[in-house]
Amino acid sequence: MCDPDASRVNAASVFRVDRIVIRGLELPLRQPFQTSYGRITHKSFLLVEACSKGVSGYGECVAGPEPFYCPETNETALHMLRDFLIPHTLGVPFAQPWDVLPHLDFVRGHPMAKAALEMAVWDLAARLQNAPLSKLLGGSAAKIRAGAAVGLQASPAALVERVGREVSSGYGRLKVKIEPGRDLEYVRAVRTQFPDLPLLVDANSAYALEHTPLFQQLDQQHLMMIEQPLAWDDLVGHAALQKGLDTPICLDESIASPAQLETALELGACRVVNLKPGRVGGFAAALAIHDRCRTSGVPLWCGGMFESGIGRAANVHLQSLPGFNLPGDTSASERTFVEDLIDPPVEVSSHGEIDVPTAPGLGHDIIWSRVDRATRFREEWSADR
Ligand code: MG
Repeated sequence: MCDPDASRVNAASVFRVDRIVIRGLELPLRQPFQTSYGRITHKSFLLVEACSKGVSGYGECVAGPEPFYCPETNETALHMLRDFLIPHTLGVPFAQPWDVLPHLDFVRGHPMAKAALEMAVWDLAARLQNAPLSKLLGGSAAKIRAGAAVGLQASPAALVERVGREVSSGYGRLKVKIEPGRDLEYVRAVRTQFPDLPLLVDANSAYALEHTPLFQQLDQQHLMMIEQPLAWDDLVGHAALQKGLDTPICLDESIASPAQLETALELGACRVVNLKPGRVGGFAAALAIHDRCRTSGVPLWCGGMFESGIGRAANVHLQSLPGFNLPGDTSASERTFVEDLIDPPVEVSSHGEIDVPTAPGLGHDIIWSRVDRATRFREEWSADR
């Protein structure tokens, strides 16, 4: 998966990861978030630190405690990292960070575990070169457009109220979660109040093809797209549904690799892609998907997994690439967490934009007192052990 784009910075010299630390963290959310998968009040995740000669890079694993979004969990990711990925990576010479993900190909699947390690090494490589991560990735935008996602609400009126609050905070594009019973009436209520708001809905796989008449009614609501209406492994079903709709279908859970994107595009299962680097194996796979979408004119945006500021900053850097032509789900850190982990926090301007950091690596300082408070366990490995 070596990168052919010369605008992407080449590593200055070969480097080796000589130490890796995994921390298990738990961060309280500012308010509970409800999707068709359930309700969460805390973000529980693994933070991978990859070190070389005293310099550290960080990667946030986007798996959760339960296998509801995808098959991976924090436990499976820890198992893959501890028993396979880390022993295979420590002390290995890498000429450039693009080489890390192919090196991890010997493990089938488990893209979130791979991404946590791979993205930590990208941050490390950027810091070793004293360059912002965006530059290594080939991005050039100084600002990206923010967007926010609103969870399932108790009533249409409550959803309208939440949407109004987000619009007045500067978010110019909003996504609302839907599930059977909390869909058409809710979307109509938002549309009545905000007829021109760039709006999309995300079903998180909560529907089946029998719900096609409902989607035909949602087709009249001038939505930007309908995200992941059907099961995560049902590309044929998505293709059948898309044929009968004017509104583009966007896939999220269904695309866990560049190969799955190829299948989806070949089948006509989607017209828009939600890309999350942590879902597809890391930055090398994300860049391949970005390049494929850009070349083919497929609209692309970056989703979110309730990342702490560390994972959120990684998404900001990625979105500085030119193929991200729609606003994503990246919002301000303080919107999500009582106490985030980075300084400065990820902030959204009154114009709905986020600055791409210019300092080396992720470009934010980590607030270690907060990381320590949130840490539930810690494991460490060294190349010389
Ligand atoms: Mg989604």
